Amino acid sequence: MTLRLYNTLTRRKEDFVPLDPHRVRMYVCGPTVYDFAHIGNARPVIVFDVLFRLLQHLYGADHVIYVRNITDIDDKINARSRELRGNRNVPVLDVLKEITEETQRIYLEDVTALGNLKPTHTPRATAFVPQMIALIEKLVQSGHAYVAEGHVLFDVSSKPDYGKLARRALDEMIAGARVDVAPYKKGPMDFVLWKPSDEETPGWNSPFGFGRPGWHIECSAMSDALLGETFDIHGGGIDLVFPHHENEIAQSESAHGGHPLARIWMHNGFLNVEGEKMSKSLGNFVTIHDLLKDWPGDVLRFNMLRTHYRQPMDWTVQGMKESWKSLEAWYESANAVHAARVSDALLSALSDDLNTPQAIAELHHARDDEVAGGLALLGFRPEPQRIAAKSSLPESEILAAIAARDAARRARNFKESDRIRDELLARGISLKDSPKGTTWEVKR
Ligand code: AMP
Ligand code: ZN
Repeated sequence: MTLRLYNTLTRRKEDFVPLDPHRVRMYVCGPTVYDFAHIGNARPVIVFDVLFRLLQHLYGADHVIYVRNITDIDDKINARSRELRGNRNVPVLDVLKEITEETQRIYLEDVTALGNLKPTHTPRATAFVPQMIALIEKLVQSGHAYVAEGHVLFDVSSKPDYGKLARRALDEMIAGARVDVAPYKKGPMDFVLWKPSDEETPGWNSPFGFGRPGWHIECSAMSDALLGETFDIHGGGIDLVFPHHENEIAQSESAHGGHPLARIWMHNGFLNVEGEKMSKSLGNFVTIHDLLKDWPGDVLRFNMLRTHYRQPMDWTVQGMKESWKSLEAWYESANAVHAARVSDALLSALSDDLNTPQAIAELHHARDDEVAGGLALLGFRPEPQRIAAKSSLPESEILAAIAARDAARRARNFKESDRIRDELLARGISLKDSPKGTTWEVKR
């Protein structure tokens, strides 16, 4: 079965042929870590996790390399840190470190609860600054970038095919990028590779002075370091096409003698909530973290996959209720079988540009063993305890309580371990100990 994927670069579906079937390589732009991720941010994570699983199924688990970065250098982070510091007498940089690490920790916890596999690499921008500096130096030396007033800028006029991904006219791009008309820029579309920092802003020494990288160069350097000059798939949300991905292409291709950055560019559509664009001012900003307090991660995951990834999606409570119902029925089927198999129908739906709604439709008239196989391939975990987690406690808290009880028992503090057990019981969770460890279920 041939995998076909829609390529934003060519605006059509193409047969997927990896450069090296033993090293299928994918890069997806990850979160900027300064705040809780919202449910829209979960969309690329879930969509590309399904693709990661499908590629592993097709090429072998050890033959797929998936990189999803953490953007921990960004002016939004700097602004948030200053805001949170307020007029307290603590260094902004300490506040910043706390925010980025805490946000990152919660992010990884939340996306794991949504059933996503850990990518092969999750590089943080702060760990790749030397590579970014080297890449910028290469661009300066080859005449694709110039230094001006402590900044290094990419010279867009040095890349005649600039705009090939976004396919927009120059004036449209200028408007779309909301470019600031800085006096040191040669052209209005030129973008920042490096900018100066003061002592209250993260900075690194470089040949261009003490400063920090721009956002776009971060991804170019990390993908180059971990996947090489050219790799198979680059993904992210549709909002990243321009300017972020356009600029990644311009930088990387210019530094690499014109070699393409990625062969296939994939972009998920945007997600609205109850028919409206999510925004803090509308008060409909739904975080993954909050949703997970009320809904099992699998239900959120399933609800996301009911819409094709390229379509705009409307996230509704009604939709989540329906998702929960479907999943519950399927989990019953899946738990009734001993051997699971992936049906051709499901595989061919997924191979058609990741058509998850079609794959889900196939599950509706599949045999129990095919339901089990399909759910597993899509990243669901049909253990009764997960879907039954309709209790008042989120799974993470139950697991934390079990860990605390284990620690108490190891310390022979049985009074404490019994207390934890009783407290869970009072909230509808009963524990079962076995030589393999402790499992839990919701009392019905
Ligand atoms: P950010 O942390 O804002 O850089 O976003 C992380 C990822 O989430 C990027 O791939 C964005 O394109 C994606 N994203 C942000 N908002 C939405 C949304 N409402 N719907 C779908 N994807 C989104
Ligand atoms: Zn990126």
